[in-house]
Amino acid sequence: MLSVQQAETLILDLVQPLRGEAEWEHLGLLDAGGRILAAEICGNLDFPYWDNSAMDGYAVRFADVQACSAQQPIELAIIEEIPAGYQPQHSVQTGQAARIFTGAVMPTGADTIVIQERTQRKGNTVQVLVAPEPRAYVRHQAAFYQAGTPVLQPGTMLNAPELAILATIQSTQVPVFRRPVVAIFSTGNELVAPGQTLNPGQIVDSNQYALAHLVSQCGAEPLLIGIVPDQPELLKAAIAQAVAKADVVLSSGGVSVGDYDYVDQMLDDLGAEIHIRAVAVKPGKPLTVATFPPAGNGHSPLYFGLPGNPVSALVSFWRFVQPALRKLSGLSRAWGPQFVTARSRQDLQADGQRETYFWGQLHLAAGTHEFDLAQGSHSSGNLINLGQTNGLAILTVEQPLVRSGSLVQVLQVAPVI
Ligand code: AMP
Ligand code: MG
Repeated sequence: MLSVQQAETLILDLVQPLRGEAEWEHLGLLDAGGRILAAEICGNLDFPYWDNSAMDGYAVRFADVQACSAQQPIELAIIEEIPAGYQPQHSVQTGQAARIFTGAVMPTGADTIVIQERTQRKGNTVQVLVAPEPRAYVRHQAAFYQAGTPVLQPGTMLNAPELAILATIQSTQVPVFRRPVVAIFSTGNELVAPGQTLNPGQIVDSNQYALAHLVSQCGAEPLLIGIVPDQPELLKAAIAQAVAKADVVLSSGGVSVGDYDYVDQMLDDLGAEIHIRAVAVKPGKPLTVATFPPAGNGHSPLYFGLPGNPVSALVSFWRFVQPALRKLSGLSRAWGPQFVTARSRQDLQADGQRETYFWGQLHLAAGTHEFDLAQGSHSSGNLINLGQTNGLAILTVEQPLVRSGSLVQVLQVAPVI
């Protein structure tokens, strides 16, 4: 059986990230947040756009004021007032100054700003009381960015800073990768939707809802196919339908060794290549990963048959599917799972047979991560104590015991609270 690391490497190798213009869409800045940039961006504008003042004060010629002091102030004639957004009308000559405000364009002739706190205004003149540094408080055109040079690279996620940069250079329609489509369905004769009457022996399908949200959180588009009974022909049809429509298919249930577990067999029948059937992990041992031959668009859909147990399905998603979706999305880096080292607040004991994930809460206490094990049963059938989980503590085969107060690796699956 594959180890967790082997499975992770194999899965990431199977992922073909979106690339090529056929996978692009062009979005306005209000729609592009969280999306992945598809091409290098070069702006047509310098930044700053023009020489401007970083402070409120007076635009002067440095040579005029370099020798002044409180004892020997220099008096300059004020020729005009330049608020932000205004085009200066005059050139500053020797013996002159322009009143200027933060962000306003430097007038020609002036090369230095004297901040207003170091001056004394007298009608139409100003006394400079302290000699400034040459070119003080002038933000020069193109000092931060030169037009035509690359500013953002493909594979970057567009968050607030990147959107501000794009707005600044007036790049208002940006090429981003389309969202990968992820088809999701649940298998099981026993399953009913949450809104349906629960008859004896039936179980409510929770996986589809949890997985749909996780898929959206990864920036992908969930495509819900519904509940599929454990009947080979229906299952085969559902798989074929999902594969035709999606980049990735997530099914849950039916991948174990029971008589009604048909997923692997149907994948075989449909010509898929099965790369993984089980991983030495707890919860989540039965895990099927398969690829289909490339479709017309050149994509070979990636199939994850997740275990049906709700806890196992979620842990498998967090550990194996999430990095794959992030890589697929075109993100150039940081696909991988996010591990933090935390101090465990309880003893954690695994059986040493498989890498074991214990769910609970990560907190920050005085700058240090702490892990609090969820109370109650850690059976993979219990999803009730999964609420508020933001971390999975990892007990390896080599180190199946972590004592309270010792450090443990934790897979972070949601923001730390
Ligand atoms: P399976 O992997 O199909 O053997 O299912 C394992 C266990 O998970 C069984 O108890 C199922 O009833 C339960 N289960 C399977 N699919 C779901 C689902 N979509 N939602 C909730 N429980 C499920
Ligand atoms: Mg089943």
